[in-house]
Amino acid sequence: MSGLIDRADRATARADLSSYAVVNHHFDAAADQLGLADDLREVFRGAYREVQVQIPLRLADGTVKVYNGFRVQHNGARGPYKGGLRYHPEVDLAEVRALAALMTWKTAIVGVPFGGAKGGVDCPARDLDAGRIERITRQLVDKLDQVIGPQLDIPAPDVNTNAQVMAWIMDEYGKLHGDAPAVVTGKPISLGGSYGRESATGRGLIDVLGEAAPLLDLDLERTRVVVQGFGNVGSFAARVAHGRGCTIVGVCDHTGAIHAPQGLDPDALQQHLNGGGVLTDFPGAEPIGAREFLGIACEVFIPAALGGMIHRDNAGLLNCRMVLEGANGPTTPEADAILADAGVLVVPDVVANAGGVVVSYFEWVQNLQHFRWDEREVHERLAKLLRRSFGEVRARSDDRRCSLRLAAFSLGIERVVEVARLRGYV
Ligand code: GLU
Repeated sequence: MSGLIDRADRATARADLSSYAVVNHHFDAAADQLGLADDLREVFRGAYREVQVQIPLRLADGTVKVYNGFRVQHNGARGPYKGGLRYHPEVDLAEVRALAALMTWKTAIVGVPFGGAKGGVDCPARDLDAGRIERITRQLVDKLDQVIGPQLDIPAPDVNTNAQVMAWIMDEYGKLHGDAPAVVTGKPISLGGSYGRESATGRGLIDVLGEAAPLLDLDLERTRVVVQGFGNVGSFAARVAHGRGCTIVGVCDHTGAIHAPQGLDPDALQQHLNGGGVLTDFPGAEPIGAREFLGIACEVFIPAALGGMIHRDNAGLLNCRMVLEGANGPTTPEADAILADAGVLVVPDVVANAGGVVVSYFEWVQNLQHFRWDEREVHERLAKLLRRSFGEVRARSDDRRCSLRLAAFSLGIERVVEVARLRGYV
């Protein structure tokens, strides 16, 4: 049985619209709301800088395979470029460009002083050993070292990259430029990482859920949650939600999907997977097919896998009241419309999953100050910042009678345009 995170879904999403077109679609809708002139739209649709580099790698069979590395810096009006690095075979320039733009709007919406960037390598990270991932990472830094830096562009983890990868980036950059922990965030704690960064995106999602729940009269103690994807974002979201009283009734990953009407313990599931177990063998839950998984009755569905997973052919299957976007760009515009018609509230990625970049900002601040906050302080500051951001987005969506996504984009774009004007860029 195949899980939900497969090529077929991504292919349908691509047919729906490419990720670049999706971000431009949201941008245009918000630019219309703001009455932004056409010449300015052109500036913000494109990116400031796009770098593509070649990364040759000797494989286990002795042959050399050439991968492509990317870094796109979309807009730096509000501060140094900021955004993750993903390692996945489907990474390409158009996708990285779209995700970089999303970071520009996300950092503006939550009010952290960064611009937007994204990077990646089109390698099959899951099939490569750690030594090869390290060689790819060090080569990437050797080739991008002139365009990244603590005051220039600060990478972070994303799909298939983690604290170890960030440690290699910091080390390689340090060899070339001198020790500079603030060049990257999401580092291991022992190398200057921040407490709470690893769990930040998942925890932030549930902080935002706490703010959005009253809109639907949801009580977390009686809220059933389905999580699509059990990587860093999905697993921490499930664990934090469980800790706050939610019932986790379904989980899927790239190997399959499970259903647990009475609820499952996500910590036990994480241990099962860490021990080499397969998701569908998890005791206390039933394996379920991909389409049935989407139809599991719940209050909150959390897409926390890749982009474009909820599209025109499957959006109608969802049986939830809220979609809380953990992944970047998980819902295509056609799916957005289907969900809106069905009365499902979509809490968009640019605010819902911003906990990651918010704690990245905290990590960067701590590095620059050579000082460390304790975990509680990080959690409290994160919750406070997301509460304020969600409140601002919600207020705008009420005022302008528009979706949370449109309100969030228009808020972010307004802030970036203002700063770009003040600097004299536009
Ligand atoms: N990759 C995460 C995102 O998409 C975090 C980026 C960061 O911390 O810079 O928001």
